Amino acid sequence: MRMMDIIEKKRDHKALTQEEIAFFIHGYVNQSIPDYQVSALLMAIYLNGMSTEETVFLTEAIVASGDVLDLSAIEGIKVDKHSTGGVGDKTTLVLAPLVASLGVKVAKLSGRGLGHTGGTIDKLESFEGFNTSLSNETFIEQVNTLGVAVAGQTQSLAPADKLLYALRDVTGTVSSIPLIASSIMSKKLAAGADVIVLDVKIGQGAFMKTLDEARALSSLMVAIGRSFGKKVTAFITRMDEPLGFAIGNRLEVLEAMQTLKGQGPRDLTDLCLELGSYLVYHAGLSDSLRSARDACKAQIDNLQAYETFLELIERQGGTFFDPQESLISTEVIAIKATQAGVVHAIDALALGLSAMQLGAGRVTKEQSIDHEVGLVLNAKVGSQVEEEDVLVYVYTKQPLEHDFIEAVRGCFTLDTAELSLPPLILEVIEH
Ligand code: URA
Repeated sequence: MRMMDIIEKKRDHKALTQEEIAFFIHGYVNQSIPDYQVSALLMAIYLNGMSTEETVFLTEAIVASGDVLDLSAIEGIKVDKHSTGGVGDKTTLVLAPLVASLGVKVAKLSGRGLGHTGGTIDKLESFEGFNTSLSNETFIEQVNTLGVAVAGQTQSLAPADKLLYALRDVTGTVSSIPLIASSIMSKKLAAGADVIVLDVKIGQGAFMKTLDEARALSSLMVAIGRSFGKKVTAFITRMDEPLGFAIGNRLEVLEAMQTLKGQGPRDLTDLCLELGSYLVYHAGLSDSLRSARDACKAQIDNLQAYETFLELIERQGGTFFDPQESLISTEVIAIKATQAGVVHAIDALALGLSAMQLGAGRVTKEQSIDHEVGLVLNAKVGSQVEEEDVLVYVYTKQPLEHDFIEAVRGCFTLDTAELSLPPLILEVIEH
């Protein structure tokens, strides 16, 4: 088999076989096929697409390029959740202990943030000493006894994805639906869960800009999951404003803790209850989605979900901080509205980038971050604000420049017209 023939085939709109796809992935990982040929193939895939069958073959080959986590020692149905990336998205921090407190098993591998989106591991590392390098035995033992463990993604899962993603990043081929679907699903499948919920974000702060694109990606990922015998549900949710109020690691942890106590923002709470109900139902622990939702709600009301979160932090070595004391090294600066109006839009992407500028996120993988800085919104889309009302509080360790303040203020679009709010969850696509 020759890589050149595979490139030409895809260039000419023909479908690749399982063997051809396995050949190119294998050859790329063992370095017998050079970057420039893989780049050409990625561009051909980007331009001409792939069928569902080809995308399943690609996912299979990426999974086969590394280890698959063996979770067979964990009793019960294992669940996982993935978000395609958003600003202020602290859902995992709430959802994982919430469903674990009901007996669902959450063996969670998470990543660090890059660019304007945050990562669960960074957020959890707001607790000093929180250890995400768990041995296999500890990881499995903790899931069996507590119901949840969170570890960093190991290098050995889906190594082909890391290589392909780095190449896509510099060849203009990131935003291809089959490439995104196979990238996300290969990592989820290698992580070994039986039930997966996917939160596909749509909006200017997200990969998918339109509902049609989000639908195509969701359906494809659900189909890939099905072909591997997994129960996959994809939620299409709006990311045209940050989720909740807080952006920045420790600020998000504090908001997640409030949410676990029933005092969180409405959008975050609703999303966690909805995703949670699907996980609990598909794990076979409820006989309807309705009763699964009620059970999740009850775990928040009776503080069981919160207790599970506290135990998760303690078991993994995290040191608790007093919320009142935890942010005293930052200065809090209020950015106010210069006119009255209804908030029509909040630029999630730009706010994510502003938080990154404060030090909450990293531009390169090697960079260290400041867990304490960030932003807390004081208005959401649909809020009525008066002139001089605070739009957002900035938690910073450096003086803010005029341009920064104006840029953050400019993230809020105010208008006098009435606004009817679309729902946060736009569609649910099931297996
Ligand atoms: N997230 C991934 O893991 N892969 C992609 O290709 C895009 C988003």
